Amino acid sequence: MIEVRNLSKRYGGTTAVDDLAFTVRPGRVTGFLGPNGAGKSTTMRILLGLDRPTGGRALIDGAPFARLREPLRRVGALLETTPAHGGRRARDHLLWLARSNRIPEGRPTEVLRLTGLDGVARKRIKHLSFGMGRRLGLAAALLGDPPVLLLDEPVNGLDPEGVLWIRNLMKRLAAEGRTVFVSSHLMSEMAVTAEHLIVIGRGRLLADTTMAGFIAAN
Ligand code: ADP
Ligand code: ADP
Repeated sequence: MIEVRNLSKRYGGTTAVDDLAFTVRPGRVTGFLGPNGAGKSTTMRILLGLDRPTGGRALIDGAPFARLREPLRRVGALLETTPAHGGRRARDHLLWLARSNRIPEGRPTEVLRLTGLDGVARKRIKHLSFGMGRRLGLAAALLGDPPVLLLDEPVNGLDPEGVLWIRNLMKRLAAEGRTVFVSSHLMSEMAVTAEHLIVIGRGRLLADTTMAGFIAAN
């Protein structure tokens, strides 16, 4: 479960997140919808301990990220950043992540298969296509078999096959009982993946409703 309580973030004179409060429950895909600049990435970065809030709290299964033990086993994330460690081979990168996070050593092979990366496992990260790079990010997110997943605009820039594949994966992960929180600036994308919707604009909560309720009301 994800809990955001009276969360605020200012950058100088810009208010990126403004007294935001919502809960994301397990067992379904929850969409995080808002136009570019609405504050989605900022909220996700705070949830992942990559940024500090100006006010309020962001909790994953009851604790702020900084207090999670073995964080990769508690929460997996796919952010919009370009992959680091470009000189490493894809498989070696996952092996290194597993080793440094006390994740069972068979797990990299499993997530390579799950994300369809078997064929490029020995390539260096910088030589992967954009879509394969995103899959590797997802493989890293799934490595610790975490109950909570945060995905920031995961289908952006993917080809149609990649888009369908990620949509199906997200639904399967939610059906397994995980908390899946996925951002997009596209209502059309949310409509086909999310059962529940958190809508924000200018850092403020605009709606927190089932997808059916949102469509009926708009
Ligand atoms: P979204 O993910 O919904 O597109 P963001 O969270 O990236 O929105 O941005 C929300 C607002 O905060 C925007 O006005 C953006 O310019 C601003 N912002 C985000 N990160 C920073 C930063 N590091 N420094 C200054 N302003 C930022
Ligand atoms: P088992 O060894 O019992 O098959 P797994 O968790 O490895 O357990 O696989 C069960 C299913 O769960 C897989 O078919 C796949 O769809 C999904 N899965 C496996 N690993 C993950 C993960 N880290 N995150 C989300 N889903 C996963």
